[in-house]
Amino acid sequence: MAIPEISVLQAWEKAGGQCECRRVSHGHIYSRCTNRLVFENRGAGTSGGWAPRYITVPAKGTAMSCEIMCLDCYNLARADEFHK
Ligand SMILES: [Zn+2]
Ligand SMILES: [Zn+2]
Repeated sequence: MAIPEISVLQAWEKAGGQCECRRVSHGHIYSRCTNRLVFENRGAGTSGGWAPRYITVPAKGTAMSCEIMCLDCYNLARADEFHK
């Protein structure tokens, strides 16, 4: 499922160069994941690598349909869903 590029860019601006993941199952108990991300490393398996991911249940009235995740969280989130 492709995410519109404009949504990715908007989400990236909102994320401010940090992973947006808040999944408690990843150990983000007190705040969101604070992994620093580098825009040029999108999809790269290096430090600063990240990927956009659809928010499963988008909030009503927001343009944000995806969140920015570091690859660690991205892969963990994907694994989570396989178990459901
Ligand atoms: Zn993360
Ligand atoms: Zn996470």
